[in-house]
Amino acid sequence: MKVGLEVHQQLATSKLFCACPSELNESAGTTFVRRLRPASGEERSVDAAAAFQAARGLAYRYESGPSNCLVEGDEEPPRPLNEEALDVALTVALLLSSRPVDEVEMMRKIVVDGSNTTGFQRTALIAVGGSLEVGGKRHEILSICLEEDAARKVGSGAGEVAYRLDRLGIPLVEIATGPTITTGAEAREVAQEIGALLRATRRVRRGIGTIREDLNVSTEGGHRVEVKGVQELRLLSEYAEREEGRQRLLLEVRDELVRRGARVEGEPRDVRAELGELRTGPVGSAVRDGGTVLALRLPGFGGLLGSRPGSDERLGRELADHARAAGLGGLLHSDELPGHGVSAELLGRLRTSLALGAQDAFVLVADRSAQRAQRAVTAVAARARAALEGIPGETRDPLPDGRTRYSRPLPGRDRLYPETDVPPVPIGSDRLGRLRAHLPERPSATLERLVREHALAPELARQLVYGTDLDRFDELVRQGHAPAGVARLLTQELPSVPGEEGKAPFDPPTELLHELLTASENGAFAKEGMPRVLAELALGAPSVAEAVHRTGLAGVDRDELARVVDRIVREQIGLLRERGDAAFSPLMGDVMRELRGRRDGKEVADELRRAIARHLGGSAP
Ligand SMILES: [Zn+2]
Repeated sequence: MKVGLEVHQQLATSKLFCACPSELNESAGTTFVRRLRPASGEERSVDAAAAFQAARGLAYRYESGPSNCLVEGDEEPPRPLNEEALDVALTVALLLSSRPVDEVEMMRKIVVDGSNTTGFQRTALIAVGGSLEVGGKRHEILSICLEEDAARKVGSGAGEVAYRLDRLGIPLVEIATGPTITTGAEAREVAQEIGALLRATRRVRRGIGTIREDLNVSTEGGHRVEVKGVQELRLLSEYAEREEGRQRLLLEVRDELVRRGARVEGEPRDVRAELGELRTGPVGSAVRDGGTVLALRLPGFGGLLGSRPGSDERLGRELADHARAAGLGGLLHSDELPGHGVSAELLGRLRTSLALGAQDAFVLVADRSAQRAQRAVTAVAARARAALEGIPGETRDPLPDGRTRYSRPLPGRDRLYPETDVPPVPIGSDRLGRLRAHLPERPSATLERLVREHALAPELARQLVYGTDLDRFDELVRQGHAPAGVARLLTQELPSVPGEEGKAPFDPPTELLHELLTASENGAFAKEGMPRVLAELALGAPSVAEAVHRTGLAGVDRDELARVVDRIVREQIGLLRERGDAAFSPLMGDVMRELRGRRDGKEVADELRRAIARHLGGSAP
């Protein structure tokens, strides 16, 4: 397996071509609807991915932010390139020993899936070449680009997709590596290193969705497949490995298809009449609605569409994905029949009427619209034909379970042409000199410094540098909180707050974390209670005090602690006399159970030791 990564990181500057803030915003301004058509690229041909999108004939509804920005709505030309964002991109280039271009030329990349109002995404090459060392291995950097982020998809309905413009135009630095990664784990490590390097500039946005990865995966004898828009770093290795497995399975299936002399029948057949009274299942509903049911004969495909031993991928799913991309709910293939409303008897009749042998297969494509059914069956036939060749190059969407799904053809170079509204920006040696003089600390140096300055355990420092943002750490430490406590909060306690399904992880403002640490330090609750207090805050407790109250962990004051310890020691005095020091652990357990984490463990232990000494001393003859 060969994997190349593209990392896209949003910058915390204003937008790339206007002065609007780079913040997501739930309050909407005006709404307008557009349709987008592809134009041919500089070399006069229309890009395959763009043509595919346009053929779907969708309308796009845009919700602007409260500013109703005319640049975002493409009612006004873009302003000159954001110089601050350019500085960040150049800084990243210098950190990666990448060679900056002499002049930044903005290009338009045709993208007509509605994710922008112009029909293209603006992108500029900033630097080429460079390298990054991860775990003793050198990974090649191909290019660094600065581009505008796309609009945010907020919904879709019949023939229409809705986007919000708050994300459109947020500057993105894109770093592309060469195909030097060979395992899923390595992909994750490289992405982590690049993420830490980007955060080292202290000018990046943070939170879910602010950094996204594309994976380019190819295997021996396969083809490049792009898994686009991975937001969860922890799933990166899984996407890479599953894609490798998918390509391996499809190559095995290809060999068997070739051995059998399999082929794809040219013309699909309308079999609605033969389905008679079928009313259940996906095909049944199309029959009931008077729709079209087309059968595509696949001689030699029998048994190769369904599940195969040792793999949870299947060719049938690939075919269904193409039917889905053409606007259908899916399809039925003969390896999964009888079932889905098709009885064994009906299946037998269909096989006879389609004149199929034991090793032959077929797929059924059904829809109310004859046109849509026809378009889908054409797409499915093309995908089945590609299976005889091997792996088609394509773009795939990551799914939450680690699998991926076909989304569209791979875009090519036909989609680029020059942007004429944005003046080019020469990169002078003055500018590079100024940036070189103020290069941020590299992650490896930060790690060493954290261990040295704050006496943090190396593993904790590593989690800080590679897993969180250091601005918050620095700020909280500046406010006087203990570095180790802050590090634990940011790297362990906060990330493990149980999230709600489908909601963004709990990400409170730094001010609240300051309050929380202060409360803990003042003994409002014990250190051990931190996860529970955080969980209450995540569930909506309006203040730290209220969260502490809801957990029932409200601190136990010194007097009460002394009273509880004293009573328990009295109750167990027999055990204490009999076992001496060995009685400490069970007594400690009793006290902690009673206090239910409302007091720090170390303080409890100290109090208990004092009480034991007092009682044993006092009662000694
Ligand atoms: Zn704007």
